[in-house]
This record gives sequence, C-alpha cells and structure tokens, in this order.
Amino acid sequence: MRDARSGTAHEGARLADWTTFRVGGPCRALIDCPDAAALRLAVRDLAARGERFTVMGAGSNLLVADGGLDRTVVRCADGRDPPVREGDEVEVDAAFGLDALCAWCGAAGLAGLSFAAGIPGTVGGAVAGNVGAFGEQIAGRIAWVEGMDARGRVNRREPRELGFGYRRCEAAEAGWIVLRVRLRLRPESPATLAAERAEALAFRAARHPDWRRVPCAGSFFRNVAPTSAAGRRQAAGWFLEQAGVHGWREGGARIFERHANIIVADGPDPRAADVRTLARRMAAAVERRFGLVLQPEVRLLGFAPGR
Ligand SMILES: Cc1cc2nc3c(=O)[nH]c(=O)nc-3n(C[C@H](O)[C@H](O)[C@H](O)COP(=O)(O)OP(=O)(O)OC[C@H]3O[C@@H](n4cnc5c(N)ncnc54)[C@H](O)[C@@H]3O)c2cc1C
Repeated sequence: MRDARSGTAHEGARLADWTTFRVGGPCRALIDCPDAAALRLAVRDLAARGERFTVMGAGSNLLVADGGLDRTVVRCADGRDPPVREGDEVEVDAAFGLDALCAWCGAAGLAGLSFAAGIPGTVGGAVAGNVGAFGEQIAGRIAWVEGMDARGRVNRREPRELGFGYRRCEAAEAGWIVLRVRLRLRPESPATLAAERAEALAFRAARHPDWRRVPCAGSFFRNVAPTSAAGRRQAAGWFLEQAGVHGWREGGARIFERHANIIVADGPDPRAADVRTLARRMAAAVERRFGLVLQPEVRLLGFAPGR
C-alpha cells in the first residue's frame, strides 16, 4: 500500500472488500478518497496519465464480476466534512453518507430527505442513481450539483441539465463525476423529522436485510414502467413473487425470504457469477409468466455483454 497525494491507493484491491454484496474480483488499484478534493486530484492524475478508471461511492449498488476490473477504481466515500447550512439550503460533499445526511438534516430541522433514511451509500452515489423511496427522489431536492468531467474540468449544473429519470442521471452515465451538492429543503420541527425517520427505518428493518451484516445491494431489478401515462411504477418484487421465485438459490446466492427482489450472497463461497445466474433465472421466470423484461437496478461491472 502507498499513500497517494490524492487518496490512499490499494494495489490489486479485491472489490469484494469494498462493496456491500461482498463479491467481486480485483481491480488494478483502488484509490480511496475521503472527500471530493481528493477525488479531483485522483481523477486529474489518472487523466494526465491516460489511465482508464471507474468512480464508485460506498459500493452499495454494485455487482462486480469475479474476474474483477482491468482498470483503476476511484472510491469516494466515508466523508467526514459536515454539511454546510445556508438558510433552508444545505451543501454537502459527494463522499458524505446519505443516511448520515438525512440524520443531520433532521436534527437541524430541515425536511425533505426523510424518504432516504436508512438507504446506504454516499451523496455522490445517490445523485448518480437518483436514489428514491416512497415515491420520492433526490433529484427533487437538488438546487445544483458541482461535478467534473473525466479530464478533471469542474462545472456546476442545475437539475434540468443532469438528465434525471427513474433511478438514473444521464450526466453521471456519461462519465460526469459528482463532487458537491446543494439541496433545497424546508423548515420542520426536529421532533417531527425524528418520528418520520424512525418510521422509515422501521419499515426498512421489517422488509430489507441489514446490509451491514448480510451481503446484498438492495433491490436487484428496477420497478416496472407504468403501462399508461397516468399509472405508477409497479414493484418488480410483485412480479417476481407471482412468478414463484421465493426460495430459489444458486451456489452461494439466494433470494431474501422477506423480499423477492433482493438477492443475498450469504451462502458458502459466494460468487458474483452465482448472483448473476440467479438474477437471470428470476428475470426469465417473469418474462415467461408476464412477457416483461426486468432491467437490473444494481450496476453490473466487469461482465461481458450477455454474460
Ligand atoms: C439494503 C439496501 C437498501 C437499499 N435501498 C434503496 C432504496 O430504497 N432506494 C434506492 O434508490 N437505492 C437503494 N439501495 C441502493 C443503493 O444504496 C443506492 O443506489 C446508493 O445511492 C448507491 O450509492 P453508493 O455510494 O453506494 O454508490 P455505488 O454503489 O458505489 O455506485 C453506484 C453508481 O453510482 C456511481 N457513482 C458513485 N459515486 C459517484 C460520484 N461521486 N460521481 C459519479 N458517479 C458516482 C458509480 O459509478 C455507480 O455507477 C439500497 C441498497 C441496499 C444495500
């Protein structure tokens, strides 16, 4: 291990050690950046050397192939710089934890993020995936995002310039890197926000595995697009249940008993390939029964197309 100017570099790091699924092979090096300033330096350095890289946050929405990645990974997570408040707006570093931000805003009497209580990952990852729950999404709270292209050029964009959609941000998909975010919130009593937070956490505890102990990445498939303009998205979990996937296993991976859209990799010697095969079987069951092609919500890294 060597200390890089831009973060701590771990040569040949196994991505299983850096993702909540806890499977996945090595990358060339993982540069662990504790804040956006370090991330900027790391990216500029890699760009100057013409090296290929991928940016990650806390790894809570990733499935990395067992063969790993033939490139450097720049991780931006575990941020410690507290958010900065200005009136009802808050500025926060991409490395800061989303759930920690929710708790911080609640204590500060700022409403708008209770939906995200208990969602793991970073603020950067939340923006890149337009994180959401209970019908709300982070895009609706954003005043602006400061980001950087793959060559290290920084600029600031408003939400309408970021191409937000259901669990997506086109700018991030095109390689734009989130550095800092300003959120527009509204005043509310800390007691009300504490109650909302407790309710959201209890809802999650009853339905989801505890990702700190159980290897998983939340919902594996995206919810299904509505069939009419007036309709709402339909839970992929419902289609999976109807297709009879409960109890299915594949090697070290299995379907979580309380949620048919969550795969956990807690069997003996779990592999990313087990998760991938199980996911394929689940999608095929839904397609057979309903003619619907489920799309992964989890980001797949290092898999050859079609494998
Ligand atoms: C138990 C559990 C429950 C979950 N519940 C929900 C839920 O209710 N709703 C929901 O939406 N998600 C949920 N998730 C999924 C996940 O927590 C979110 O998608 C989270 O926002 C991912 O953030 P991350 O920092 O872990 O990103 P990673 O998993 O590290 O990365 C995800 C993607 O974001 C990109 N990215 C990360 N940081 C940056 C950055 N700074 N700039 C540009 N791109 C970046 C990566 O390149 C990658 O494409 C859940 C996951 C678990 C394990």
